[in-house]
Amino acid sequence: MKEFSNISRAEILEMLSLNGKELQDFYERAGQVKLKSVGNKVYYRGLLEYSNRCAKNCFYCGVRKDNQNIDRYTLEDNEVVEAAKLAHKKQFGSLVLQSGERSDSWFVNKVSHLLREIHKATNNDLHITLSMGEQTEKTFDLWRECGAHRYLVRIETSDKNLYQKIHPNDQLHSYDRRIEALEILRKTGYQVGTGVMIGLPFQSREDVADDLLFIKSLDVDMVGMGPYIEHETTPLFKYQDQLRPKSERFELSMKMVALLRMMMPTINIAATTAMQTLHPEGREFALRVGANVIMPNLTPLKYREGYLLYENKPNVHEETDVSLEKLKQSIEKAGCQLALGEWGDSKHFRDRQY
Ligand code: SAH
Ligand code: SF4
Repeated sequence: MKEFSNISRAEILEMLSLNGKELQDFYERAGQVKLKSVGNKVYYRGLLEYSNRCAKNCFYCGVRKDNQNIDRYTLEDNEVVEAAKLAHKKQFGSLVLQSGERSDSWFVNKVSHLLREIHKATNNDLHITLSMGEQTEKTFDLWRECGAHRYLVRIETSDKNLYQKIHPNDQLHSYDRRIEALEILRKTGYQVGTGVMIGLPFQSREDVADDLLFIKSLDVDMVGMGPYIEHETTPLFKYQDQLRPKSERFELSMKMVALLRMMMPTINIAATTAMQTLHPEGREFALRVGANVIMPNLTPLKYREGYLLYENKPNVHEETDVSLEKLKQSIEKAGCQLALGEWGDSKHFRDRQY
C-alpha cells in the first residue's frame, strides 16, 4: 500500500467522489490496510467530559461561552477519581479528560492535581489524554510532568479562511495560535492528535481533501474527526439550509477515515461519537474502514445534558454499563477484538521513538 503515502490531491478528490461498487471496494481495501498495519484490536479511552465552562465562543459549539441556555458544571475531584477507578476496574487502558478551554491558574492547577490523583488511584496503569484546548508551553509542560501522555487539539479545518468564518475574529480564536499549539505539543513529548469537522457550512470537497494532506503533513500520532452537526443555539445554525444532507456528511466522514488509514497506516483513528449521532451503526462502520479507537462516555449521567456540543448526541440518558455492553457487541459485529488492559499507544508514536 506504499502508493498511498504520496497520494496526490487529485487522487484524494477522485476517491472522495467514489460511489456504488467502487466505493465498497475502496472501503474493503482500507479495511485491509488497517488489518495489515495495526490489526483488528480496538482500544477504549474512557471519556470524561470534565467541564463545560469555556472561555471561547466557537460559532459551531453548543457549550460556547455565550450560550446562556445551559447549566455550567465542573466535575468534583472525587467524581473524576471514581470514574478513573471505574475505567481501571473495567480494564480500559486509558482515559480522556475533555473540557471547555480555560487557561486561568485555578484550572491549570486543578488539572495538574487531578492528573496526579488519577495516577495515584489507579496504580499508574492508565494512559491519559487531555483535550482542553490551547494552552501555553508552560502549562503543556506542567501537565506532561503530572502524567498526561497524549493531547488532542483538533485544527477543525485546515483552511484559514474557513477557520475564520467559523470562529470570532480575535486573538482567542486564532488559526495561527492553534497551529502553534500543535507544534509546541509535538516538542513537549506528547503523543499528539488532531482532527477536523466534516461537512461544515462553506466547506468544499477540496477543503476536506486539503485537511487530509494537512493532517499527514503534521505527522500526528492520532486523529479524531467526524461530521459537523448543527446546534440550534449557535451562530452557525443560520446556515443549516446550506449544509450537505446528514447522510452525505456521514458518507464523506467514512471516506475520510478510510483515506486517512491508507495515507497514515499506523496512527490511531477514533470512531467518533459524532459518527454514531448521524448513523446508529456509525462507529461500527468506521471501525470496518479504518478506525481502531472508541471513547465510551464515563461522564456521570447528571452532567451529560450539559455537554451537548451538538444536537442529538447519543447515550445522554443511558447507564454506563448498558452502553458498554452494546458497544462490546458492536465491536465484535464489526469483526474487531476489544483490547483490554492495554494502553494502545499508536504504532506510529512507538515507531518514531526509535
Ligand atoms: N474545548 C476543547 C475540547 C472540547 S471541544 C477544544 O475545542 O479543543 C471538542 C471538539 O468537539 C472540538 O474540537 C470540535 O471539533 C467538536 N465539536 C464542537 N462542536 C461541534 C459540532 N457542532 N459538530 C461536530 N463537532 C463539534
Ligand atoms: Fe469551547 Fe471547545 Fe466548544 Fe470551542 S469547541 S466553544 S473551545 S468547548
